[in-house]
Amino acid sequence: MERMAEPYKIKMIEPIKQISREERKKALEEAGYNPFSLKSDDVYIDLLTDSGTGAMSDNQWAGMMLGDESYAGSRNYYHLKEAVEDITGYPFVIPTHQGRGAEQVLFPLVIQPDQYVLSNWHFDTTRAHVDFANGKAIDVVTREAYDTTTPYEFKGNFDLEKLENIIIDKKPENIGMVVVTITNNSAGGQPVSMENMKEASRIARKYGIFTVMDAARFSENAFFIKHRERGYENHSIKEIIREMFSYTDAFTMSAKKDGLVNIGGILAFRNDHEEMFNRARSMVVPLEGFPTYGGLTGRDMEALARGLYEGIEEDYLKSRIHQVEYLGNRLAEGGIPIQSPTGGHAVFVDAKKMLPHIPGQQFPAQVLANELYLEVGVRGVEVGSLLLGRDATTGEQLDSPLELLRLTIPRRVYTYNHMDVIADGLIAIKDRAKTLKGLTFTYEPKVLRHFTAKMHPVD
Ligand SMILES: *Cc1c(COP(=O)(O)O)cnc(C)c1O
Repeated sequence: MERMAEPYKIKMIEPIKQISREERKKALEEAGYNPFSLKSDDVYIDLLTDSGTGAMSDNQWAGMMLGDESYAGSRNYYHLKEAVEDITGYPFVIPTHQGRGAEQVLFPLVIQPDQYVLSNWHFDTTRAHVDFANGKAIDVVTREAYDTTTPYEFKGNFDLEKLENIIIDKKPENIGMVVVTITNNSAGGQPVSMENMKEASRIARKYGIFTVMDAARFSENAFFIKHRERGYENHSIKEIIREMFSYTDAFTMSAKKDGLVNIGGILAFRNDHEEMFNRARSMVVPLEGFPTYGGLTGRDMEALARGLYEGIEEDYLKSRIHQVEYLGNRLAEGGIPIQSPTGGHAVFVDAKKMLPHIPGQQFPAQVLANELYLEVGVRGVEVGSLLLGRDATTGEQLDSPLELLRLTIPRRVYTYNHMDVIADGLIAIKDRAKTLKGLTFTYEPKVLRHFTAKMHPVD
């Protein structure tokens, strides 16, 4: 893809500052060598997440002034419902405060205790809500996802053979639902092909299993289908999205990603699931709020209704995906091993390959994240053994198959110059990679340790 300038101009700016190397060193020590504990003011370019970190447009901000804060039946709810129905084809719409809000409402309605839930990859909160509903989450991702160097257009795909075998093996009545996660965040923002979605859906329907789309990055996935899958090059993004959603029964969506808002989520159902929609509407009241606001203000819903349309614009998607690809190309050209091809929302650096002398138990991707912060003030995030944690029963430290540094790009926030700073920083580190030391815990929390752990370089 050729480099493409941003299809927008800047109307308002937020100053950011690169503090000195000495100050960064001190900040990192105080943060216990854990970028999660850095103050954002000490970060120059923040690539921790693309969730809720995007920039809204003038059109969305204008919509914020039109918030109807009525408790019930807000006009902004109806705008949101119309936008969702127009884009996805799903008429039954419930706003929620985030994606996890939609999960907590839906999952207990679908999953019976001890049933299995099968997904191409469960996002952390998705897995947690499967657990809360007393279900058991199993990931069935294609094996290409584990191989960062082999190019494969749809590394987010289901392993379809495995999917059907598990259903047969565990028996269909013991499967609570199939969750199609687009894009596959954990595999590197990798897309799922239309063919794979269609086939996964056919298998689930054959056995009468409910299917849910985890739709956080639905428009980025549609863009990849248009540009990578044969037969879709002449379809509009909207047509592709419509077809994607025709393969599932309901969707949960974190609107903080492709919805282009800083907070928000959606739970929606196809037209043949009115009964379940009604049950969800009763559940949402104690959990999130009255069904026409679900934890959001009227102005939030208006910004989201507008954001959904902006997020499916071809020029926007093109520049978004190009920017991520540009960073990936600069890194690859500079000899940095990355998950290839790049996905939608992030570039994943293969820390196992870059720091082969540091064992998984000393967290090479965390070492790399810290070094990148020291070098240029960029904050990335570890996706590897630190995130994976220990075996729940034996307490043994598990070795993650991949040790990745995720550089997540917020939407419409940074420019190509910022991408160059990030790339130059990592390339500079490459030459001294051999001298970097692993990390060991000084404080290790029992659950979700990666958020608050404190560490120290080993001798
Ligand atoms: C972000 C995300 C969620 C959870 O959504 P929140 O808005 O953070 O609660 C669920 N699934 C996927 C794939 C996500 O990326």
